[in-house]
Amino acid sequence: MLKINNLHVYYGGIHALKGVSVSVNPGEIVTIIGSNGAGKSTLLNTISGFIKPKEGEIIYKGEKLIQNPYRVVKKGICQVPEGRLVFVNLTVRDNLMLGAYLRKDKKGILEDLEKVYSIFPRLKEREKQIGGTLSGGEQQMLAMGRGLMSNPEIILLDEPSLGLAPMIVQRIFDIILDIKEMGKTILLVEQNAYKALSIADRAYVLEQGKIVLQGEAKEIASNSKIQEAYLGKK
Ligand code: ATP
Repeated sequence: MLKINNLHVYYGGIHALKGVSVSVNPGEIVTIIGSNGAGKSTLLNTISGFIKPKEGEIIYKGEKLIQNPYRVVKKGICQVPEGRLVFVNLTVRDNLMLGAYLRKDKKGILEDLEKVYSIFPRLKEREKQIGGTLSGGEQQMLAMGRGLMSNPEIILLDEPSLGLAPMIVQRIFDIILDIKEMGKTILLVEQNAYKALSIADRAYVLEQGKIVLQGEAKEIASNSKIQEAYLGKK
């Protein structure tokens, strides 16, 4: 479905992605794990068209993806960014509706709003509340809900657990599984390797801009080097 081939990305003199290749099949949760600065956000931002790669290509459903953020969303790829970026002065409902700004099918938009409310009842309860007054976990839910409002086929999730209390983190990961059940494909970037591997089908380990390991999430989770480096086990 999504095939990333030999991606090289630079920020000036910094070589942030050094020949990264990743593939995502329909209906899968694929996770990219790696520590701070490994290049995880860079990878998602490149897929979304915010950063132009120096080399390499991104193929989506057999076609080369044009590096333009609007076209990428129109094609059915939606990124939920790190740090969530909800519109702090808009209500929950208006934030969600903004996710559908490229759509014209009013009926479908309202149906998707109900779907989002069924996955996130908390957002329904707080429909009229201003985004900036939501808790961190609720803002994460809002950002994910807003992403779903574009009716994407594939969702790119950047560190959804960042800065959240453990109980909320569990809730967010349960919701990611619900989103998979809706038929969506998910590319999940996480520092919380333990949680990410527990819900993913396949995983890639990114270190200093290079994929150093890939495989079934279960296999990666039982790899002793990974346990030592990312899961805090010896
Ligand atoms: P984190 O989990 O901390 O967000 P990450 O794995 O997402 O880390 P990136 O944010 O993709 O990592 O960063 C990869 C590398 O590129 C880092 O060395 C970072 O300092 C560098 N980098 C990222 N954005 C820029 C930028 N705008 N200008 C210069 N260097 C950048």
